[in-house]
Amino acid sequence: MTDETAQQHTWRPRRFMVIVGHPDDADFGPAGSAAAWIDAGSEGWLVCCTSGEAGGEDPNLDPTELAKAREAEQRRAAEIVGYAGVSFMHQPDGGLANDMPLRELLVREIRTFKPDAVFCGDPEVVVHAGGGINHTDHRAAALAAIDAVYPAARNPMAFPWLARGGLAAHRVRRLYLMWGNQSDTWIDVTATADRKIEALRCHASQLHDPEAVFERVRGRLAEGGKRIGTAAAEGYRLVVLDQDPEEAGEAEVPAGNRPKGRG
Ligand SMILES: [Zn+2]
Repeated sequence: MTDETAQQHTWRPRRFMVIVGHPDDADFGPAGSAAAWIDAGSEGWLVCCTSGEAGGEDPNLDPTELAKAREAEQRRAAEIVGYAGVSFMHQPDGGLANDMPLRELLVREIRTFKPDAVFCGDPEVVVHAGGGINHTDHRAAALAAIDAVYPAARNPMAFPWLARGGLAAHRVRRLYLMWGNQSDTWIDVTATADRKIEALRCHASQLHDPEAVFERVRGRLAEGGKRIGTAAAEGYRLVVLDQDPEEAGEAEVPAGNRPKGRG
C-alpha cells in the first residue's frame, strides 16, 4: 500500500436498498458490495424503476415479453447476490421521469423496507469521465432515489396519506452514489467479484459477447482494488445524511460529506 492508497470502507448497514433504472444496472453497479454486505449479515432489497422493455435492437420485439424476460433475469441475479427481494416500479424504459408518482412509489419502498443506506446512481454525471453518455433513465433513477430519500421518506408531511396509512417516516442515513466521476469510497469485493459476474451472466438478453463484458467489469474492479490495496473494489461517492452516534469523528467519512445541518 502506498501513501495514496485510500482506506478500505468498513461501515456496514443492517439494511440497505439498491434503487436503479433497469434490470442489470444493479449487477453492473453495486452487486459485489451488496453481496459482501449480505454475507456479513446485512439485508438488502433491490428496486428497479423500469423493467427494461426497450433494451433490444429489434423494433419487432414484443416489449411486454422482453420486460417479462428481463424481470426473470433480474430475479435470478438477485438470488445469486442474496437480496431479500426485488420490486419493479414498471415505469417506461427510456422515458423514466423523476416525477411525483415515481417519488411516491420509492418512498413507499423505502418506508416499507427501512434501509439504513441506499445505493443509487450519481445524477450529476451526464458524460462519464472515460467517455460515454450516462443513460437518461440512469440519471432520472438517481435523482428520483435521492429525492425520495431526502426529504420525502423522512418527512411525515410528504405524501401524508402514507404515514396516515401506517408507513411512518423513515430516515435513510447514507447514500452510496455509483458510476460517478468522483468516487471517494471503495468497498472491497475480492470475495464476491465472482458472484457479481455470475449475477451479470443472468442477463442473457443483454449480453451479446458475455466474456468481453465480464473482462471489462473485472478490469474495472481491479482498478478499484488498486485504490485500497485489494484485488477488487467498487467505488462510490458517499453522502452521509445522519452520522451514527458511535462513529462521530470517524476518519473514513470524507469531510465534504459530513452533515452540515439538521435533517
Ligand atoms: Zn441501465
